[in-house]
Formats: sequence, structure tokens, C-alpha cells
Amino acid sequence: MSELILVFDLDDTLYPERQFALSGFAAAGRWAEAELGVAGLAEDMARLLDEGYLGELFGIALAGKLPHHTPEQLTGLIGAYRDHDPELSLFDDAAWALHHFANAKLGLITDGTHRMQERKVTALGIAARFREIVYTHALGGRQYSKPHPRSFEVVEAALGGRGDRLVYIGDNPAKDFIVPNERGWISIMVERPEFRRIHARAKVAPGGAPQHTVASLTELPALLGL
Ligand SMILES: [Mg+2]
Repeated sequence: MSELILVFDLDDTLYPERQFALSGFAAAGRWAEAELGVAGLAEDMARLLDEGYLGELFGIALAGKLPHHTPEQLTGLIGAYRDHDPELSLFDDAAWALHHFANAKLGLITDGTHRMQERKVTALGIAARFREIVYTHALGGRQYSKPHPRSFEVVEAALGGRGDRLVYIGDNPAKDFIVPNERGWISIMVERPEFRRIHARAKVAPGGAPQHTVASLTELPALLGL
């Protein structure tokens, strides 16, 4: 009998990525104050995030306080961000969905530094919910980030049988849905109207439009006929 296999993205799909970013900025700001004698960096980074900057904001913020900073100082700042122990909580509808589908086969595919993504999963306490978790960078580096197909192949090999229906649920049309669409999965984007995603400005990649869009993961049972 064909089974439904639900595979989730992590950041901004199951919990608000901004929570992690802000607690990381606070940790990085404390590091900068202690190690470099620089105050106010956390506020600068939060402002840059709101202006739409992402990975490059660490260098911009540090250069704003320390124009002649060294590469090692920047690495230290980013390390303090990535290695902090965050306090995170699931979106209410994500907590509901993980509970509702507790007896289904669930998977997780997430991009980002391996140890950082693992800390997020630990902080959320959700590792045991998933039969398979793929940290894409752990497959051999950041080149395995979505839309590289490898992580989806790993999930198919681990969880998918002949005739099973595979579903990928994510938030970023620039990268989340290209491979699921190519491989015959069902692709679903969650776009919560009251919530602003970190990647809200991401453009839809060619072939990357989701087949379905929901405002809440509570819509999944009706959408999937369950
Ligand atoms: Mg995401």
C-alpha cells in the first residue's frame, strides 16, 4: 500500500529563523564586547537583517565598528553566532503537524552549517520525530545545499518505497521546490500571512514554484486527503 512520506525544511518552515538570528546576534555581540571591546554590534546586526542583509551582514556590522578588523576577528564573530545555544520554539501549527502526523514517516532536509543546524534541532527537541534527518552540508560541503538533488535521493533511499507519495514542505521558492518538482514529489510552500520570512525577498527559481501554498500546516491533512 502506498504510504505518505512528509519531508520538512527546518528554518522558517518549522520555527521562526529570526528567533535563531536574534539570539545568535546577542551571543555574537557579547563575544565582540568581551574579545574586541566593541559594544552595540547585536543591534547593528539586527538592523541589517531587517534591511534585507543575510550572510554578509557580519562583515558589514564589524567593519562599521572596526574598519581595520582582521579575517580572524570576523571568523570569531561568526563562530560565536553559529555555536551559541539558542532558545527556539516551533510555530504552533508546526507543533500541531508534527503531533498530528506522528505515525507517518517524517523526514527533515536542512541547509546550513552542520553543527549549527544540529543545535537548532536539539534546541527544538524534535530529532526523535524524524526517521531521517539530512544535514545537506554533512553530505560533503555546502555545495550539497538545496537545490542539489543528493539530499532528496538520500531520503528516497531511506524512506521511500515504490508507489509512495513523497511530499516536501518548505518556505523558500528560490531553492526548496526545484528538486521535489523534478522528482515527482508533491511540493508545498508554507507562507504564514502574519509572519515575515527571512527569505521573504527570495525570487522563484525556474522550476521552483511550489505546487501548493498553505497559510498554515494545519491545512496539510485536507490538502493531502488525509
Ligand atoms: Mg527554510
